[in-house]
Amino acid sequence: MTNTKPLNTRFAPSPTGYLHVGGARTALFNYLLAKRTGGRFLLRIEDTDVGRHQEDAIPKIIDDLRWLGLTWDEGIEVGGDRGPYRQSQRLEVYNSYVNRLIDEGKAYYAFDTAEELDALRKVAEEKKENFRYQRPAVLPTAQQAASARSEGRPVVVRLMCESADVTIQDDAFGEVTMPGDQIDDFIIQKADGYPTYHLANVVDDALMGVTYIMRGQEFLGQTWRHVLLRRALGFAEPGYCHLPLIMDMKGRKLSKRDGDVEVHAFRVAGYLPEALVNFIALLGWGPGLDREKFTLSELVEVFSVNRIGKTNAKFDRDKLLAFNTDAVAAADDERLLSGFKDYLSLNDTPIPADDENMLRKLISINRSMRTFADVVAKSAVLFLPDDAFEYDPKAVEKVLTKSDGAGVNVLVELRDLLANAEWTAPSLEKLLQDYCESHQLGVGKVAQPLRVAATGGTISPPIFDTLVILGKAKTLARINRCLAMLGR
Ligand code: GLU
Repeated sequence: MTNTKPLNTRFAPSPTGYLHVGGARTALFNYLLAKRTGGRFLLRIEDTDVGRHQEDAIPKIIDDLRWLGLTWDEGIEVGGDRGPYRQSQRLEVYNSYVNRLIDEGKAYYAFDTAEELDALRKVAEEKKENFRYQRPAVLPTAQQAASARSEGRPVVVRLMCESADVTIQDDAFGEVTMPGDQIDDFIIQKADGYPTYHLANVVDDALMGVTYIMRGQEFLGQTWRHVLLRRALGFAEPGYCHLPLIMDMKGRKLSKRDGDVEVHAFRVAGYLPEALVNFIALLGWGPGLDREKFTLSELVEVFSVNRIGKTNAKFDRDKLLAFNTDAVAAADDERLLSGFKDYLSLNDTPIPADDENMLRKLISINRSMRTFADVVAKSAVLFLPDDAFEYDPKAVEKVLTKSDGAGVNVLVELRDLLANAEWTAPSLEKLLQDYCESHQLGVGKVAQPLRVAATGGTISPPIFDTLVILGKAKTLARINRCLAMLGR
């Protein structure tokens, strides 16, 4: 396939929960292809499965797509000429197509109960055959369907399908054929009057002008149904590309079992969307260049369906973390500030989220962070009440009480010096330097006891920044608390 003519694509999530990274990849690739070819990218909500539908999933999906930067040209919330873009608001459209198929003799009513179908399935199983629905010799009329419904039977509509092979040309998987002997008359309208996924999806793609369909590999085995429906309805064939599965590092299908799989969880964990987008872009696609780092607009420039493979992709969390670390290093302070604010709005931390100067300071002293969570891990203790953190016994032993309490002695002396100090980073630095020199001590032997006393552990931002952020009174209160704990 070449990227010459504009291709209209869509992302069509079923709102059953947060956006999964697999869904985000589908959205991303569709976005990239539309932008690359000058087509439209559309967002449609497929909410006709009443049992699985969750209303609050819709704003969640929308919010996470926007966070990733994947904006749509047409669809829910932004509007367009071909709406509404929620399937539950289009039932009349689907009904009219179902009725047309019935009128044209291409579809028919059926009212088998679940028990009857199960019994037929069992018979097929016993004969070691695939179950295929047997079309009745005489098709039920609309009146018979109505009286079956009034007797409480489930009335569905099935599409008449010939038992001939159906081959689709998939841009990742090549020619994929569904053998005719596995094809049967599938349901296009359910007993609750809602269309099935197949019917609604096909009708909407055609009416909304979608010309290229990219979605997860799990739909590949269903696509024959869409081909047959399109033929019955007289719709043109779109292009197809099914995206390879995403596996964990052990080669199992990616699942919650070994960590987060939802975009939102990475957002809450302090990742930058640009790092996640870059990482997700490489799941099943490669630029074929000696380079892996791309912004979203750079991806638009290099993306091509030709480079989507059918080999399973690997979700390497270490690689994602490395990407994020690099993205943080490459980002300017303003970018990190807005990202950090978003992070804090989603997490309950003691960091004062509305003190912009403080947030800037925390970012500048934590420039080597991997994610925003690292800032919190290192700095949250500075904002807790002075008696609200624990002293790490290992740190206390290693830094303070070991070697006959050398660290404790340093701390006792520093307490008096600090009590009279001017509280700025340069004068604190000078005070500690002078102390080190006059006592012939390395910086660590002085900074670490202070750090443990002030934060409870050995990991914190640089010591002068730590002390300045804490302020004199709090620093002294914490040193006193620590020394009291050690009987001094
Ligand atoms: N609504 C389907 C889903 O949730 C979309 C399938 C398709 O893209 O055709 O994944």
